[in-house]
Amino acid sequence: MKQPKPILWIVIPCYNEEQVLPLTAPMFLEKLKSLEEKGKISGRSRVLFVNDGSRDDTWNIICRLAKEDEHYIGISQSRNRGHQNAVLAGLMEAKDQCDITISIDCDGQDDINAMDKMVEEYWNGCEVVYGVRSKRETDTWFKRTTAEGFYKFMNFLGAEVVFNHADYRLVSSRVLQHFADFEEVNIFLRGMFPLVGFKSTSVYYERSERMAGKSHYPLSKMLALALNGITSLSVKPISMITGLGLGVSLLGVAFAIWALVEAILGRTVAGWASLVCIICLLGGIQLISLGIIGRYVGKTYMESKHRPRYIISDRTWEDNPRHWLEEDE
Ligand code: UDP
Ligand code: MG
Repeated sequence: MKQPKPILWIVIPCYNEEQVLPLTAPMFLEKLKSLEEKGKISGRSRVLFVNDGSRDDTWNIICRLAKEDEHYIGISQSRNRGHQNAVLAGLMEAKDQCDITISIDCDGQDDINAMDKMVEEYWNGCEVVYGVRSKRETDTWFKRTTAEGFYKFMNFLGAEVVFNHADYRLVSSRVLQHFADFEEVNIFLRGMFPLVGFKSTSVYYERSERMAGKSHYPLSKMLALALNGITSLSVKPISMITGLGLGVSLLGVAFAIWALVEAILGRTVAGWASLVCIICLLGGIQLISLGIIGRYVGKTYMESKHRPRYIISDRTWEDNPRHWLEEDE
């Protein structure tokens, strides 16, 4: 039996976006309709706005849009919970109603034309398609350097993140069903989807300026997001303390020997050498101990997340989920 084309829900977090929403909402709808006309997605596809507790006219605009065209729908969070939670709320709302989701910011910075490539990759069998910024020319030097440094640092710490990918991404509802088993409260979506697995790929696009309104991500929020990402995905900072402790201990021993030699040569006041030895060695031992305790704390932390221990993507006795797509072509 021929299955229908995939239903796409575009998930768009909005926080105080009354200036930009009237400009970008028609663009999303147009894109949805063009994909529909090309026969790539179902006519039951939707544009889902997630109002993140906006204090301006955003929710009224969303309600108005929903009345104008049935393709627009919206949900509203009880209060501002931040970008990551808004996207999560939208994705969880969508997962049982559609086949694929694309999350994108509502300010028009991410090129919506990349959606064609994303859907294409889905037809090719990918379940997660990361939108990756090919250039950052519109960002300031500072934003570019700090952001790119952040991705490199995350990978160094053992948290797998796709370089220069923010939250513009296609995710199939199948992946979202498994993603729902990640029960953690501190979420850093772009670092978590690689953990779910499944076939994934990247498409590249150029990021442009915000169409209207201003960014809600000042340096302080960016730092908070970075710190949250690191501490949510990695316990390496804790084990680095052990390394530091070992280093300090070794230095302490060297220092102690030096102090002893100085004391024997009579170049010091009485009591200095013994004090220096004690301080150096104790400092090192304390850091090592902290590191060891930290290891246990880190393990407890990871355990408390109750993440799924495995995710099965295929079973031989199940129909190939991509089967109908090939048939449809
Ligand atoms: N956003 C949100 N909740 C917030 C802050 C931002 O839902 O608390 C949304 C915002 O409406 C936009 C997206 O997240 O759609 C990205 O925000 P912004 O464009 O301000 O960040 P930038 O692109 O400057 O990093
Ligand atoms: Mg933006």
